[in-house]
Amino acid sequence: MSKIKKIGVFTSGGDSPGMNACIRAVVRTAIFEGLEVVGIRQGYQGMLDRNFWDMTARDVGNIIHLGGTILKTARCLEFKTPEGMSRAYENLKSHGIDALVAIGGDGTATGANLLSKKFGMPVMCIPGTIDNDLYGSDFTLGFDTATNTVIEAIDKIRDTAASHNRLFFIEVMGRDSGCIALRAGIAGGAEAVLLPERDTAIMELIEKLSDQANNKKTSIIVIVAEGDKNGGAYHVAERVKEKFDFYDSKVTILGHLQRGGSPSSFDRVLASRLGFAAVKGLLKGKDRQMVGLRGNVIVLTPLEEALNHPYFKLEEDLLEMINVLSI
Ligand code: ATP
Repeated sequence: MSKIKKIGVFTSGGDSPGMNACIRAVVRTAIFEGLEVVGIRQGYQGMLDRNFWDMTARDVGNIIHLGGTILKTARCLEFKTPEGMSRAYENLKSHGIDALVAIGGDGTATGANLLSKKFGMPVMCIPGTIDNDLYGSDFTLGFDTATNTVIEAIDKIRDTAASHNRLFFIEVMGRDSGCIALRAGIAGGAEAVLLPERDTAIMELIEKLSDQANNKKTSIIVIVAEGDKNGGAYHVAERVKEKFDFYDSKVTILGHLQRGGSPSSFDRVLASRLGFAAVKGLLKGKDRQMVGLRGNVIVLTPLEEALNHPYFKLEEDLLEMINVLSI
């Protein structure tokens, strides 16, 4: 029999589509298992402010399709201090919370890991970030939706690019990860992709685009991941455009629209599986684990390993393919 009677669930760091579906899964699985559930608003800040919400199954009705997070999210510097973390723990205990499910990125998981190590409160972490930059899960929550949003934008830009013979540089999110850029590049039929994980010399890009221009392409779309070392889409465009008189060059920074929107079916199912597995894991006595999906199987990875292992998720075949399919 598990000693856990009441769990807390929170979202923290950047929001990502699918967080609501995940909150719903955690709340309903916990209630189904006879537990009480407390939503903690605004992540670690909410622990310090005692911003607690005793939730029922009905409180998570009609949210599966919503982007963002009904529990709000925040970045909280005070929680990083020993005093802040102690106060957060005292507040959780005084509200009767025995265990936590944290939904967020690596910072969120780092905080949860430390809290559990220091005070012995069991935690399970769910990788919620559009960047897909965590070890322990092939896909993080929100990555698929964000990539679909980017593809939708590329499709629209392609219409105008082809009509005007334009060379477009589209900057996409992902911080140090090129996962969104690579997948969106393949699915959006981009002519080139610049990624943080691979150095691309500007001369190399110019040669490639020249070949494509010589092959009579009427438009060219270059996806630039925000973490690419050439310094972003504007910089790349400045250095490339004078070589291509034939094309009218344009830059589009997609920005925060990539963070919002209704989660894809993939993210809704992933969110549900991860939330369900997190609660089941706690009830089985698991602690300090990252709940992830690997090869379509839900797996738990110790947080210590997940946080210290370098992630590399760029599929080699996609990297090779993009050069072939863009001739
Ligand atoms: P994203 O990937 O979307 O940025 P994240 O979870 O990595 O999400 P962060 O801002 O890095 O976002 O972390 C969220 C919160 O986690 C921080 O505001 C802080 O409260 C807590 N946190 C981060 N790092 C630590 C740490 N080393 N010790 C304690 N708490 C931390």
